[in-house]
Amino acid sequence: MQQEKDKKEELLEGLEVRREIPERKKAEEAIQKETAKLSAMISGMEEGVIFADKEDRIVEVNDYFLKFVNRKRPEIIGKTLWDFYFGLSFEELKKNIVNFKQNSHSPPIILQKSLHGIETIIRLQPIYHKEQYDGIILNLIDVTELIHAKKEAQTADGAKSEFLANMSHEIRTPMNGIIGMTELALKTELTPEQREYLEGIKSSAESMMALINDILDFSKIEARKLELESTSFNLQDFIYDTVSSLAFQAHKKKLEFLCNIPPHISYNIIGDSKRLRQILNNLISNSIKFTEKGEVVVHVQEESKTDEDVCLRFTVSDTGIGIPASKRQVIFDVFAQADGSMTRKYGGTGLGLAISSQLVELMGGRIWVESEEGKGSKFHVSISFDLQKHSEQKLGHAELLDFKGLPVLVVDDNTSNRHILKEMLLNWNLKPAEAESGGEALSLIDQAKTSGTPFSIILLDAFMPGMDSFMLADYIKQNPDIAKSTIMMLTSGTNHSDANPWQKLGVSAHLVKPIKLSELQDAINLVLGIAPKEEPEPLTDRQPSKAAHGAYRILVAEDNIVNRKLAFFILEKQGHQVTGSCDGKEVLEALESDIFDLILMDVQMPKMDGFEATAVIREKEKKTGAHIPIIAMTAHAMIGDRERCIEAGMDDYISKPLKADRLLNLIEHVATKKKRAQSEYLTSKKIEF
Ligand code: ADP
Repeated sequence: MQQEKDKKEELLEGLEVRREIPERKKAEEAIQKETAKLSAMISGMEEGVIFADKEDRIVEVNDYFLKFVNRKRPEIIGKTLWDFYFGLSFEELKKNIVNFKQNSHSPPIILQKSLHGIETIIRLQPIYHKEQYDGIILNLIDVTELIHAKKEAQTADGAKSEFLANMSHEIRTPMNGIIGMTELALKTELTPEQREYLEGIKSSAESMMALINDILDFSKIEARKLELESTSFNLQDFIYDTVSSLAFQAHKKKLEFLCNIPPHISYNIIGDSKRLRQILNNLISNSIKFTEKGEVVVHVQEESKTDEDVCLRFTVSDTGIGIPASKRQVIFDVFAQADGSMTRKYGGTGLGLAISSQLVELMGGRIWVESEEGKGSKFHVSISFDLQKHSEQKLGHAELLDFKGLPVLVVDDNTSNRHILKEMLLNWNLKPAEAESGGEALSLIDQAKTSGTPFSIILLDAFMPGMDSFMLADYIKQNPDIAKSTIMMLTSGTNHSDANPWQKLGVSAHLVKPIKLSELQDAINLVLGIAPKEEPEPLTDRQPSKAAHGAYRILVAEDNIVNRKLAFFILEKQGHQVTGSCDGKEVLEALESDIFDLILMDVQMPKMDGFEATAVIREKEKKTGAHIPIIAMTAHAMIGDRERCIEAGMDDYISKPLKADRLLNLIEHVATKKKRAQSEYLTSKKIEF
């Protein structure tokens, strides 16, 4: 029974196998056909190809690969990838295959290797079937020629840049000679024609020098020879210094040139200030160059900040010609200019932005431009800097807290400048109002007067269309109800003698745009009667006690109106009677017509300086036996200043900026000394009688 059953099963199995055999055969044939097709496809390829299955067994290889590894086909087919070494380390290959097996849809891996002295690119492409790893295709490409060509090009590039760097350096030396000698020649006596020629040489030599400097920088960056420095510098000072040096160019073109740094950005950062200045100089000079009318504004913002570092955004915007969209990227390339025509209107080499963008890249930052043709451009630079730990906050607003809520009027037709000034004033807790024209200013002044809160300070732009700022200042000073307002003139002139016509109108201070935060603070402090902060003083010493001092008739000789006003403020507050003179000649005239107990004499004054005036006074006193105490005021505390003043016949000396307590104590000291000398003189005379 059992035997029969077994036979039956055997028969059935046989039938099954017989049915399977043709199917398997069919499948095998299909595989062979596909493999033959594949093999035909890859055999002629000019790169090595190997197929391995999911067990890492090599199922196909092409002739190129066999030649590359110097093996015969039977030596390889059916072996695993680990049975022979063809140059790629097993660890590296294994690591990648394990990774392919673990993560379906892994992307291919491309490696650049030097195998048996041949430069190759190896591509490992995993094959997945129904989400499962099913093998690998390994391609091997000989790129020896390409790599050699690249290396050669790099060496040639490096050599070219090095050559340029050396050349530029060598050219600079004789160029210095040309410029220096031309300058010397220009100082000699010349005919107008000769002067013109020499000035031509000088200006051409200077532009050539600028070009050489650009090329030198560029080639240094290219040759990777430029190393960034890392020093700590105060951001606020740095920005103002940078813009101040370019103000002249902007003012020459009658452009509004403004600088907007939020007052709290007053810390020290660590970086290469020289190179950062070069970048900003280039952007600002370009803005000035490509703008015929309107404004150029430098804006600094924080993009992000931690305790350790800060990411700053510097923006230089202008209302100039703008840049067409098609040129906005290429202008950052070497020698690229938006206007490439031979007859282009603006000079330049097209190197500035290429250098700037390379420098920004070296600093790990980003540079980009937004622009609208005919409307203007905005260049942005964003760079991160480490912060200097415990860097002093240079410009606090504690100094002006005394004036909290003080009404200030800003009169300027330029919206950006009004906005910047308003921010500064608000930071000091003052109460700013804005007027964009003389007419609007007048109505605000009238309103403020009627409401009983007249403006204490009027910040007045010197150049406004419509009602002239002269007329406005004149009107204010002529009008007794509002004449007490302190007018500060904001000008675009770099020449301080510009201040003179306004001084006659009672303008108390003259500030040159772009307005520096600390300068405005000092000017407000000065006109409102607080000396600029130099070194911290103990609070108790700030207000000198009135009772401790006598009251004297004092002649203040000082040509600077702000300093004179400050001296007046300090002395009058103390109960002294004060008269002012602008120069030595006026001092002598005042002495003819009035009697004084003491002279406070600036040593540097126009027409007749303090030394000369003192000499005349002392000469006259020889005849009368009188002696008026003279205290010299000097701008710099130099060694030997005191001796010079005493030798010149002065009694003592004080350095500027004037500090109230020091000045009052000195006056008291000098005046008491004189009184003592006088009484001793009288006593001696009495004894003689
Ligand atoms: P250069 O100013 O010496 O030509 P740059 O590399 O500094 O070289 O600038 C390249 C070009 O970019 C300029 O020639 C100009 O066409 C354009 N460009 C740069 N800045 C401005 C700007 N503020 N307004 C308009 N065009 C500008």
